[in-house]
Amino acid sequence: MGTLIYNGWVITQNEERKEYNPGYVYINRDLIEEIGDNSERLAALKAQAAELIDAAGCVVIPGLINPHTHMFQTYMRGLGDNKPLWQWLKEDIWPSALLMEEEDFYLAGLLGSLENLLSGVTHVVDQHYVHYVPGSTDAVLRAMRESGIRGTLCRGFVDQEYRPEFMETSAHIMAAMDELGSRWHGSEKERLKISLGPLNPWGCSPQLLDEVGRYSADNNMDIQIHVAETTKVVESSVSRYGLDNLTFLHQHGILSPHTQLVHGVWLNEREEELVVRTGSHLVHCPVSNMYLASGAAPVRRWLDKGINVALATDGPGSNNSEDMMETLKFAACLQRVSTLDPASLLPQDVLDMATRGGAQAVNAGNTGVLAPGYKADVVLVRMDRPHLGPVHNAVSMLTFNANGNDVDTVLVDGQVVVQGGHSTLVDEQELIQRCQAKAARIRATVTNSLSHD
Ligand SMILES: [Zn+2]
Repeated sequence: MGTLIYNGWVITQNEERKEYNPGYVYINRDLIEEIGDNSERLAALKAQAAELIDAAGCVVIPGLINPHTHMFQTYMRGLGDNKPLWQWLKEDIWPSALLMEEEDFYLAGLLGSLENLLSGVTHVVDQHYVHYVPGSTDAVLRAMRESGIRGTLCRGFVDQEYRPEFMETSAHIMAAMDELGSRWHGSEKERLKISLGPLNPWGCSPQLLDEVGRYSADNNMDIQIHVAETTKVVESSVSRYGLDNLTFLHQHGILSPHTQLVHGVWLNEREEELVVRTGSHLVHCPVSNMYLASGAAPVRRWLDKGINVALATDGPGSNNSEDMMETLKFAACLQRVSTLDPASLLPQDVLDMATRGGAQAVNAGNTGVLAPGYKADVVLVRMDRPHLGPVHNAVSMLTFNANGNDVDTVLVDGQVVVQGGHSTLVDEQELIQRCQAKAARIRATVTNSLSHD
């Protein structure tokens, strides 16, 4: 019975941030049963384990949590290399999304899930807001299921200010949430979940937001929403409602411990107090904020106020990858350059945001830490390569040296889904070739129609 990971430098991320070097993690089915460095116990566990994973030359960490991306944008990498948010959405993302078929959402979802797993992510939240193709949402969930990742499909929606193809009525949205939830929420032994995704304050009417707040409270379901991503977003809220983003959302029952507020770059201090008071979570996407020149979020100030902050990649249209390992470094470096303080965000701070903070933000409290009783979502990262060692401080190495290519092994729910840096479940080469051909065809159509405008 059981799987034993041994010989590695184990970083538990528990309350004391205990490390064992070398240490072991013993897994029984989908849960961690034992962890430590006691040599007698190790010998006994070796004798009883059905599967042995030798982690020599590796750091063993809890799986990273990526609480915000848009996986359909794997088809749109590098299209907005010189544009701000609004222009990038209108000229590149939306026209391409509108040409995608059900199979494209499946392929992009599979590629996105794989990319996340291969960079050490065991739980991804995909905010999926393209619903004009019947079956597109199911296609993403099928892809998550097949990849082996822990996945939350955050069903994104709007009812105003967008292109007609994206807009839905609140009655339709709530019926879709019921239907999706009944089939997928908690399926695959709780590995797949559904959440509510009002896209942003300007795309959702006050009436829709009221319903979302009620639905979340009644069904114990998470909400995820983009807020204060750019100064333009803040100005549109103030000019329309006379209120900043979070005061407006709070009036409509959106802020609670079930709520993930994405970006928040331009929140004011009064809004930050609302985050503290309501126990909402902030999701920081440093690479996307730099790529679209949106700004630098005051993460140090948030942490000092006691706000829970998670770390995410955002969609691969504005990143252009979904590498959570490199996101650790960007988060630390962006905060240093914006505060001119090299101690503003330490390696331990960013690893906490990507593990414990992420788990808290997505209300998956039994993940993000390696400890008995927690989910066996475990990642082995190499530390024996020329760009990584000699290693004095493994958390620093993870933050400033390692990238997604250094991820060796990934277990989700105790199942090995990545081994030797490759998926055990998906043919990566066949997938990338299919995606390349389909995405190129869509791009050619968009380029063609733009040149005729
Ligand atoms: Zn986003």
